[in-house]
Amino acid sequence: MSATPDPVPAKPALTGAARLRIAIIGGGAAGFFTAINTAEKNPAAAITIFEAGHKPLQKVRISGGGRCNLTHHCFDPVRLVEFYPRGQRELKSLFARFQPENTVQWFEKRGVKMKTEPDGRMFPRSDTSGEVLELFHALAKRHDIRIHNQSRVERIQKMDAQFEVTTTSRQTERFDVCVLATGYSPTGWELAKALGHTVLPPVPSLFPFTIHDAVLKDLQGIALPQAKGKLVVKGTHKTETFTAEGPVLITHTGLSGPLIYRLSAWGARSLAESRYQALLTLDCLPTQSEDALRAELQHLLAGPEGKKKLGNLSFAALPNRLWQALLVESGANPEEKVETLGKKTLNRLVENLKRLPLQVTGKSPSKEEFVSCGGVALKEVDFKTLQSKCVPGLYFGGEILDIDGLTGGFNFQACWSAGWVISEALKAL
Ligand SMILES: Cc1cc2nc3c(=O)[nH]c(=O)nc-3n(C[C@H](O)[C@H](O)[C@H](O)COP(=O)(O)OP(=O)(O)OC[C@H]3O[C@@H](n4cnc5c(N)ncnc54)[C@H](O)[C@@H]3O)c2cc1C
Repeated sequence: MSATPDPVPAKPALTGAARLRIAIIGGGAAGFFTAINTAEKNPAAAITIFEAGHKPLQKVRISGGGRCNLTHHCFDPVRLVEFYPRGQRELKSLFARFQPENTVQWFEKRGVKMKTEPDGRMFPRSDTSGEVLELFHALAKRHDIRIHNQSRVERIQKMDAQFEVTTTSRQTERFDVCVLATGYSPTGWELAKALGHTVLPPVPSLFPFTIHDAVLKDLQGIALPQAKGKLVVKGTHKTETFTAEGPVLITHTGLSGPLIYRLSAWGARSLAESRYQALLTLDCLPTQSEDALRAELQHLLAGPEGKKKLGNLSFAALPNRLWQALLVESGANPEEKVETLGKKTLNRLVENLKRLPLQVTGKSPSKEEFVSCGGVALKEVDFKTLQSKCVPGLYFGGEILDIDGLTGGFNFQACWSAGWVISEALKAL
């Protein structure tokens, strides 16, 4: 189904001089959501989006593998902030005003019907980001929002109460309000710095780990539906430990999947400092205690299964190739009978099942979601409005801020909430 914009009255014709002039730098999720909501609430505003690329909304288009994971089915702001390694306190106040439930209502009211997947991720029912792009473009057109593509902003100068915005093609325009929504962009952070803001050095978050360990060799494609991981990262000044649970996928370069993404997000800054050197300890069977596993193996040794080949055993629903690799890692021969398993080898096997040590040696490129840890310092922004505390009339929304979430629709949600709160602040101007 194609999205149909809400029947909001078209913008009344106003003279240029009477209109509040708003520049939005960055035509991504945060920029568009701010522009559309501001236009809906303040028809007198003249809004211009400056987009560096050939087309806006390119990340929205590729997001969620082209399906666009718009938000997450977590309608409790207190629980919701737990999915954000950075910005929890500030997001609480944003989510109190616009949270996933509002996002769902917002999109559905404008024709994008939503669905929830078993893991809580929420997508357009059509399973296509194209529907979201279509809606955003239709609303931008309806509200007469000007979109300047291929217009990278290289300078913003505060001139009394106005902003002079200059693009790389040397075009200059003046505005009353300026919203910086440049996402993961060095040029955006430079603009913020030039206006007097502190930018915490951006480093990647949400990425797979590179691990070259014999135990994982030839196991690519194998998934563990539920595992637990402990990551120990030795920094220059301190050692930090991060833990997480979730599915894991073995890749040709190491490990990926939600558990790894969570660890990479929580440990983003420490991992960057350690140049992505860390020790990961994997619990392959987190729902079973060490004692229970040992007892189960001893029971198998003594029972009729004892006559089977170790490698043929189907143990605790572990994928068989992984089970065989763990046997070899523990010093057992998969060709031998189960009953031949000695006490020492059995103990090593239990140890590897519960605490498999894997040396992380790098960060693999992410084919899925990817965001930045770092950005404009949150203490310099008033979260009631998202206005800068240093420069009146300047607002920040989206990934340019030092806010980031886990995978699952949390990063877009932070953009929608920010865009909504900015539009509330601008409606009264
Ligand atoms: C492959 C991938 C898949 C993802 N999937 C999901 C998902 O399914 N769900 C989810 O919640 N999150 C997802 N994310 C994260 C999400 O896309 C970002 O959190 C979100 O796009 C941030 O929005 P933004 O508006 O802040 O920045 P962006 O979407 O990056 O938009 C910023 C825009 O500003 C422009 N720009 C930059 N500098 C300038 C300048 N100087 N002048 C003018 N324009 C400029 C850029 O060209 C860009 O278009 C994904 C990310 C990636 C990379």
